[in-house]
Amino acid sequence: MRLEPEPELERFRSEVRAFIAKHAPAGRRHAGVRAPEAAEVPALRAWIKRLYDAGYLGRSWSVEHGGRPGARPEHGYIVAEELARARAWGEIGAAPLAAGALLRFGTEEQKRHFLPRIRSAEDLWCQLFSEPGAGSDLAGLSTRARLDGDHYVVDGQKVWTTNGQHADVGYLLARTDGSGAKQAGITAFALDMTAPGVVVRPLREITGSADFNEVFLDGVRIPVDRVLGGVDDGWRVANASLGHERSGVGARGVELFSQLEDLLALARAGVGGCDLADPATRQRIGRVAAQVHVADKMSKMVQSRMVNETEDAADAPLAKVLYSEVNLAMVELGVSLQGVDGLRVEGDAQAWADGWWQDAFMYARAYTIAGGANEVLKTIVAERALGMPKEKR
Ligand SMILES: Cc1cc2nc3c(=O)[nH]c(=O)nc-3n(C[C@H](O)[C@H](O)[C@H](O)COP(=O)(O)OP(=O)(O)OC[C@H]3O[C@@H](n4cnc5c(N)ncnc54)[C@H](O)[C@@H]3O)c2cc1C
Repeated sequence: MRLEPEPELERFRSEVRAFIAKHAPAGRRHAGVRAPEAAEVPALRAWIKRLYDAGYLGRSWSVEHGGRPGARPEHGYIVAEELARARAWGEIGAAPLAAGALLRFGTEEQKRHFLPRIRSAEDLWCQLFSEPGAGSDLAGLSTRARLDGDHYVVDGQKVWTTNGQHADVGYLLARTDGSGAKQAGITAFALDMTAPGVVVRPLREITGSADFNEVFLDGVRIPVDRVLGGVDDGWRVANASLGHERSGVGARGVELFSQLEDLLALARAGVGGCDLADPATRQRIGRVAAQVHVADKMSKMVQSRMVNETEDAADAPLAKVLYSEVNLAMVELGVSLQGVDGLRVEGDAQAWADGWWQDAFMYARAYTIAGGANEVLKTIVAERALGMPKEKR
């Protein structure tokens, strides 16, 4: 395991940091994986293109498709960390997932068509996996795709589609055969989001923003050459692409440390009567600070094991569970330290940091669900890493 920075990687980090400082558009105003406002999207498309052109995104792709010779997985982690440190936007939507599927399973025609459009950000992608009755139990999805000549006809509903309102293409999972095991008979598609029969309805969340959408699919026709991987092989395609994009893991530690600094600033400013001389307050901050250090070390360790391919079944689930729980504890503390001022929300001129903590407080529970609900991840750790008996499903 190697945790100390290497000079070559530190040089790369400085270069990326300077690039972000010079070129990034206005930063993210809120915590979390959020969708931008429609008015922000053109500038973000230009920014994503710029990141690809500079070799900071898509660096590990095959060279013929724009990857850089000598790319190392650490480069991807560094870019994600530096974007998080600057609170800058990174790539929005599901293009990294889709690129993983295209590079591994796509036909030559699909690669030639889609990969350059991802690099130029002409196409933003969304992930059309979850359904009202299929989230943790994704294999239970019921959106159907029926072959009709040289098209599939799709009927069903997706939900929690982050950035669906901005997406040009959807990475869709649909059932093409219902006769066998749940995981069999699922096919992955690249869906044109402007096709007739696709209706995207934003969901307004407790935070007031609309990051997710419901997507209704009613007799939508997809040409057969837009199947990603084999027909009925979508489960394997989806799992491989979910495993492909995990560069965010180390960025979580960076985010937690920067939030910890903000928490200390809030406490030092005495917002809502917060008193750093109070031993109970100091203890509460100290406890969260210790958790941040542990979560950061855990993320770095997992990152290192991913680079060395020595990762085990518990690593990624544990790092994600720990991060989401520490993040939740931190934002709860951030609001609680503000006393009654903790009730002030974004838009209230007297809210500390324009209500950033209150928004983060409301959003933080999403992280305990996104990327695998914590309860389900804990079961994975119990079964696959501790060898406990399998849950009956
Ligand atoms: C921020 C965010 C972004 C997302 N973006 C997308 C996206 O872009 N595209 C997309 O397709 N989906 C997206 N999702 C959806 C996400 O994948 C699902 O929310 C997740 O898989 C959980 O499914 P569910 O919401 O249906 O909850 P359910 O699976 O119904 O779970 C509800 C509760 O039951 C618990 N539970 C379920 N099964 C078990 C079990 N076996 N053992 C113990 N407890 C269990 C869960 O832990 C949870 O607490 C996003 C979710 C979030 C929060």
